Amino acid sequence: MAKMIGADCKQCRREGCKLFLKGERCTTKKCALERRPVAPGQHGAGRKRVTEYGTQLREKQKVKRAYGILEKQFHKYYEEAERMKGVTGENMLSLIERRLDNVVYRMGIGSSRSECRQIVNHGQITVNGKTVNIPSYQVKVGDVIAVKENKKELDMFKQLKGMKIVMPKWLEFNSDTLEGKVLALPTREDIDLNIKEHLIIELYSR
Ligand code: SF4
Repeated sequence: MAKMIGADCKQCRREGCKLFLKGERCTTKKCALERRPVAPGQHGAGRKRVTEYGTQLREKQKVKRAYGILEKQFHKYYEEAERMKGVTGENMLSLIERRLDNVVYRMGIGSSRSECRQIVNHGQITVNGKTVNIPSYQVKVGDVIAVKENKKELDMFKQLKGMKIVMPKWLEFNSDTLEGKVLALPTREDIDLNIKEHLIIELYSR
């Protein structure tokens, strides 16, 4: 399976914002972006002239990197969003947010999206009682997402028990039963990353 290459923290430094790729480390003083908030490389700290195209491209890269999506699949989200009613940029973000790996991350089952992708890939998550090992699987309203019954005693899941997990209002998760539900589809306000999605749409519309 194709995957994103490049040190996680370098990706944040390139985009100039926290993409939360390394779990708990991202909220501590060890965060590389807090220690060295400049682009990576010898000339990273230098001033650069950024074109309109460059700004649009950076915005797209930021979202792709935050969610760990490759270009081909990202473009498919754009095409699908364009066919939907409503605002294309918001539709696109909603589709991306509904990926199963992201939902598992939002529910707090893993500490980063890449860890959650691995959890899904390893067949440790069920949707409506059936194992789903496809990270891009699109959840629907009413779907019940759970840690697979015979995996609940693994240390990584046992440690969640009783934990108070903050999550967006479109989801619920019970950390004792390790089961959650999709209450609604995510709207633009539910997506907390600082994204200017209209720039991505402008880029694809060129
Ligand atoms: Fe990004 Fe997290 Fe690394 Fe900070 S620690 S630079 S937020 S991946």
